Amino acid sequence: MTKFLNHHPSSEMLVEFSAGTLDTATSICVSAHLHFCKCCRNEVARLNEIGAQLMYEAQPEAIIDNGLFDKVMAQIDQPQPAVENSREKTDISGFPTHVNKLLNDAQNTPVWKRLSSSMEVAKLFTGQSKFEVALHKICAGGVTPKHDHRGLEYTVVLKGSFSDEKSVYTQGDFIIREPGDVHQPMGAKNGECICLSAREAPIKLKSILGLILNPWLRVNPS
Ligand SMILES: [Zn+2]
Repeated sequence: MTKFLNHHPSSEMLVEFSAGTLDTATSICVSAHLHFCKCCRNEVARLNEIGAQLMYEAQPEAIIDNGLFDKVMAQIDQPQPAVENSREKTDISGFPTHVNKLLNDAQNTPVWKRLSSSMEVAKLFTGQSKFEVALHKICAGGVTPKHDHRGLEYTVVLKGSFSDEKSVYTQGDFIIREPGDVHQPMGAKNGECICLSAREAPIKLKSILGLILNPWLRVNPS
């Protein structure tokens, strides 16, 4: 899928992604963005070529497969069967293939928990504990509680769009939230918005409603 986007992973993240040193949760988000962003796909391909060249120069006898990235991307782009599960109520057509693979995992059949009248969350199991990975759904025109972030959060818009005080985010956009960032996402009025997110720590709500909802916003309450 080719699309011009306004919000991308940092250059450092793409370098780490190419080098294979990015953590699993962040890699899932970066891969989701690459599905939608030709610009970043080209950059990762360029980085992969540089990495392959460096390996070739360091190990002349090594077998260098310059087409590895293309093969990986071809696999990612292969259509996957739709999720068939009675608990899956979400239209996932157009989602990145590796996200669909996650959703096809028996552990990851989305179980949506309502956080407010306008927002639901479904945790995804990714085999790591550094980040909580989840899908967030905002209904059309929904206004979510104002909240800040105690840790890093990466968000990729998989479907629809939403906005906050800073910008409008459309399908494929990659949003980075730093600790201390405060925002109030609002879903677009023309349809529901579904995002993939990886967050370091539970968010802390600022409004009275948020304070009431705060325990519910933890994806994995302890
Ligand atoms: Zn990009």
